[in-house]
Amino acid sequence: SGRSGGATAATRGYIKYKDPKAAVEERVEDLLTRMTLPEKLGQMCQVDRFNFSFYPPATRHEIFTKYLIGSVLSNPYDTGANPSKRVVEANTMQKLSLSTRLGIPLLYAIDAVHGHNTFINATIFPHNVGLGATRDPDLVKKIGAITALEVRATGIAQAFAPCVAVCRDPRWGRCYESYSEDPKVVTMMTESIMEGLQGNAPYVADFKTKLAGCAKHFVGDGGTVGGINENNTVADNATLFGIHMPPFEIAVKKGIASIMASYSSLNGVKMHANRAMITDYLKNTLKFQGFVISDWLGIDRITTPPRANYTYSIEASINAGIDMVMVPFQYIEFLEGLTKLVNGGYIPMSRIDDAVRRVLRVKFSIGLFENPLAEETLVAEFGSEAHREVAREAVRKSMVLLKNGKTNVDKVIPLQRNVKKIVVAGAHANNMGWQCGGFTLTWQGFNGTGENIGRNKAMQLPTGKTRGTTILEAIMKTVDHTTEVVYVEEPNQDTSKLHADAAYTIVVVGEAPYAETQGDSTTLSIAAPGPDTIRHTCGSGMKCIVVLVTGRPLVIESYLDTIDALVVAWLPGTEGQGITDVLFGDHPFTGTLPRTWMKSVTQLPMNVGDKNYDPLFPFGYGIKT
Ligand code: BGC
Repeated sequence: SGRSGGATAATRGYIKYKDPKAAVEERVEDLLTRMTLPEKLGQMCQVDRFNFSFYPPATRHEIFTKYLIGSVLSNPYDTGANPSKRVVEANTMQKLSLSTRLGIPLLYAIDAVHGHNTFINATIFPHNVGLGATRDPDLVKKIGAITALEVRATGIAQAFAPCVAVCRDPRWGRCYESYSEDPKVVTMMTESIMEGLQGNAPYVADFKTKLAGCAKHFVGDGGTVGGINENNTVADNATLFGIHMPPFEIAVKKGIASIMASYSSLNGVKMHANRAMITDYLKNTLKFQGFVISDWLGIDRITTPPRANYTYSIEASINAGIDMVMVPFQYIEFLEGLTKLVNGGYIPMSRIDDAVRRVLRVKFSIGLFENPLAEETLVAEFGSEAHREVAREAVRKSMVLLKNGKTNVDKVIPLQRNVKKIVVAGAHANNMGWQCGGFTLTWQGFNGTGENIGRNKAMQLPTGKTRGTTILEAIMKTVDHTTEVVYVEEPNQDTSKLHADAAYTIVVVGEAPYAETQGDSTTLSIAAPGPDTIRHTCGSGMKCIVVLVTGRPLVIESYLDTIDALVVAWLPGTEGQGITDVLFGDHPFTGTLPRTWMKSVTQLPMNVGDKNYDPLFPFGYGIKT
């Protein structure tokens, strides 16, 4: 019967890799045997969506149909991505991929490291350091699940998360991406966030609401000398396997879909060329089944200067075991170089097949062949109230109270809400971008008010807007309607005279946003004019509560005596009301320090368990209310 004259499935040609009922491994092998060399190499290449507008050696159509590129990333330069436009774009790219001979779907990836942070109006959670302070793995699992929903709603199926770095030195500009200095805390949180992002291992349980995760950066990124980003990590076996490796071990055990190589070196060997660690240890000893991806221009930086010998970079990285290369721009050069190296016998075909197998395994496992397009039914959940409630819970549980009163009997917190007047001071109190930190709308983060950019010229913070509640707004929502709230962005010597009648002052100071190397710091000082803000309020006799908006411990010992109460809010994200929830006593303070708080930078690195441990506040400290 039928138009084909009674043809059975078999005579029409059963295509095993297209059969959702066939086992993943069988589908992978079936597809692999059908692939040409260009089709294979395309799967090993990830380009940046920026190419479509800014670096067009080929049209978007050609990227997928001629160069057969298997993966795309939206890097966080993508200022304020608009959800609905991006869904259309993701689907357009996907359809181009599906139109190719074998119809292999595209894997689209993004940095979703504290919620779907590149997208306007997404729910932005506290950065990992704050989640470490919660010590609440169930909460972190929920956060992973919400992040997956919001990312999936925009047509993206992979997140470059979690960052499982064990930051051993807060001078490192990526310290806020690390849950803790303690590998046990990092390992616990890695397991939880993975369950939320990916579902139950192996890989993804629910194809439509889960993501492929990516544990990064393999390995030792948080242990570089001097806390300098991308530097060398000097580690003996006890340090390597006792501190930096455990989170990766749990990630592999739980079926992480991919692992990103670190820009840093390990004992002098660049991780992107480190065959002993990537192939021998990660793939052969730990039996990692997913794919290893390079970092952005990571293979280019194997040489000094970067790209000194690109052919060598390709050969060394692929032979070390990297399966997919985040190119991100010169993908034609990469594909040509890789082709020559394979044809010349410098990279064995078995290595290429291993790489492609791993990429395909993830694509099949996350259901991309069956659900390649954006999951439109999820769009309503994007940035929803329910998601924001979880973020708010995370904020309040991440809050750490370091001081509560100048003596044991004059507790300041919980704050009273039915007073006549309070003062809120400091630019951080009313700046959504600063409150969210780096990796929010853009790579370096953004300036939520459009003002004060002058202070941060070096960082070129763009302006931007996204939904959320600033700390000032949260305070105004929380206090009695009869309470006068005076906001003084930059207090001066007159402030305490003018506002002597205020019951108390909430001073919000800290760091301005940064990401990666731009955040490396040798001073760890409160950003200007924060020190003056404290001096003109706390130092002039006003009763004051200092709230630190920061990705890491800052040097604060000299201010401590003048401060009545000291609170660390980390980089809380969009839901500022989590802060007032605990300040005003609707919820207790339960957070504990995920890091050692140093007295001075000269003590660094200093971590719990060290011999001469002499912190201002020790790891695990936090007053409970
Ligand atoms: C960072 C990674 C990130 C990648 C893609 C790199 O600069 O090191 O953590 O996933 O960019 O944006």
